[in-house]
Formats: sequence, structure tokens, C-alpha cells
Amino acid sequence: DRPPRFHRKFIHPSHGDSAPSSPIRVMQWNILAQALGEGVDSFVQCPLEALSWPQRKYLILEEILTYRPHILCLQEVDHYYDTFQPVLAGLGYSSNFCPKPWSPCLDVEGNNGPDGCALFFDQSRFELLDSMSIRLSAMLIPTNQVAVVTMLRCRITGRRMCVAVTHLKARSGWERVRSSQGSDLLRHVQNFIKKCPGGPTGASGTDADTPLLICGDFNAIPTEDVYRCFALSPLGLDSAYKKLSRDGLTEPEYTTWKIRPTGECCSTLDYIWYTQNKLSVEAVLDMPTEEQIGPNRLPSYNYPSDHLSLVCDFSFKEED
Ligand code: NDP
Ligand code: CA
Repeated sequence: DRPPRFHRKFIHPSHGDSAPSSPIRVMQWNILAQALGEGVDSFVQCPLEALSWPQRKYLILEEILTYRPHILCLQEVDHYYDTFQPVLAGLGYSSNFCPKPWSPCLDVEGNNGPDGCALFFDQSRFELLDSMSIRLSAMLIPTNQVAVVTMLRCRITGRRMCVAVTHLKARSGWERVRSSQGSDLLRHVQNFIKKCPGGPTGASGTDADTPLLICGDFNAIPTEDVYRCFALSPLGLDSAYKKLSRDGLTEPEYTTWKIRPTGECCSTLDYIWYTQNKLSVEAVLDMPTEEQIGPNRLPSYNYPSDHLSLVCDFSFKEED
């Protein structure tokens, strides 16, 4: 018998008007690399048995299939070629993967290759226009962090959307590197939108007309520089999960919650950024409560990663 999955509800932050008929569902999730979870992460309250790949892979796939996102952004993927790519391709997803150049997974005995970022999209909803993989730089120096950026066209509305996934440098003391990596990503994304096939669309024909979604494990709490850099960027981005809060202005209390030998870590590090004047947030999947997560925190028999999935429904705003 397996412990039950978390029951999470969608919160509809809207304004009373009727829900759009076909929102775009987006999932952001650091799934926890298999090699890191078993090898070096030292989640001291999680039984090793709960971390075995045959157990975890079904929990990860089950989580994805429960919500069936049109766009799926994953970090710490070290089973892309043997699991996620083929399984999700069979379910109608197309995908791009970018491994980290010096993945820490490679230091773990019996590893399954490097971990990296993967971006999946539902081919019945989106058409791929272009994609690129990026090795992020910090202060002009190439780093070990990567991103995948794609340009998609929605088959229902015909509108273009730029989607990116990233996983920034972990650990305290690296705040300036994260900030620099974030700026580098924003620069790459702007250039990518400019040079994409078909060029910028929209009434005025400027880059500002292409909505943007940037999903990631930023390894940064909301008071960090990189968060401010995204919130204040000229791209007009906002963080979707703020919509869960009563005032609509506050990030959730946690997106990751784990216990290491050094202590408990409960913090908000994962985000879904979106272009505020081009997309509206129709629904946000709430976070499990402390009680649901349980005293041993994450990962656990109930949940396969130390990071929680973030799931939002978006719709295009009317073009002006
Ligand atoms: P990061 O610091 O970004 O972290 C890598 C992973 O470790 C992340 O997935 C992170 O998870 C996880 N992590 C964060 N905190 C802890 C912790 N306290 N204990 C265990 N795991 C943690 O690493 P880099 O990508 O910059 O790579 C650093 C590692 O990569 C080195 O330790 C080395 O092993 C290897 N490396 C090897 C090189 C070579 O020449 N062979 C060159 C460069 C790196 P999360 O994001 O969820 O917090
Ligand atoms: Ca991790």
C-alpha cells in the first residue's frame, strides 16, 4: 500500500468574469535528479527505499499526468533519454533537453548521465517555431547552469509565445552569480524573440507583443537580487504564484521543504514568470499544507521530490 498523494486544489484568482474555454496549463518542477537524491543530497529523514528509481519514476509521471500540462518545465532531469522523453512522446509531447556541462550527477557512482533542464509541450496544442539551449554566463564567465528557450505557436489562437526553463546556481554565497545568470537569461531571451522565424507578431510589430513564460528553480528567495531583476525587468514580468496569496502580492511560504544534516530548509525558490499585460493567470494549484507534507518533509513515500510542482492556467489577453 502506498500513502496517498497530496490533494491540491486549483485556486481561481479571477475577477468574476467567465473562465476562458481553453486555458494553457503550465507546470514547473524540479523533480530531483535520481543520482543526487540517492547519492549526495542527504535527505536524512527520507528512507532510501522511497528514493529508489522504480518507485520514484511512477510518482513523478503520476504527478505530471494528474495535471496534464500543455507546457512542462523540468529541472534535474537525469533520466531524459531512457524515461521522460520516450514516455511523454508516447503521450503526445515534444521536447528539448539541455544537460549541465559538469553535472554533479556525474560524480555519483552508478549515475545515469548528467542532469539538466527539459522543456516539453503538448503537440496538439502548440507548434514548435524555434528552440535553443543556452549555457548561462555570469560576469562573462561560462557557468555550469543552463536554460532551454523555445518559441511556440498556439494552435487554437495562432498566437506566439516564448517559453524558457532554467535552473540557477544553488547554495548561499552565490547570490551574485544567480543574479548575473538571470540577467544573461533575460538578454538571451530578448535576442531570441528578435531573431525568431516569422519575426515579432502583433499589432505594433514589436518584441513586446510576444508573451513570455520563464519557469525555473531560481535557487533564490524573493528578497534576492535575481528575483528583483526579473520583477523589475523591462519585459513586464510578474510571478504567477503570488496570485495564491490573499493580497495577490506575496509569494507562497515554500516551494521546497527538506531536512538535511545541516537542518531544515523551507523556502520559496521556484517561480513561473509571465508577461503581465499579455497573459492572465486563470488558476493556480495551491500548495500542500505543512500537515499534508508531514513531519519528515520532502521527498517522501508520498512525494518524489524535495521541490513541489507549480501548476498554473494562463490565457492570452485580448490584443489591443
Ligand atoms: P550547484 O551548487 O548549482 O548544485 C548542484 C545540485 O546540488 C543542485 O541540483 C542542487 O539542488 C543540489 N544541492 C544544493 N544544495 C545542496 C546541498 N546542501 N547538498 C546536496 N546537494 C545540494 O552545483 P553546480 O552545478 O555549480 O556544480 C557543482 C558540482 O558540480 C560540484 O560539486 C562538482 O561535483 C561538479 N562540478 C564538476 C566539475 C568538473 O570539472 N568535473 C566542474 C564544475 C562542477 P537544488 O537546486 O534543488 O538546491
Ligand atoms: Ca536538488
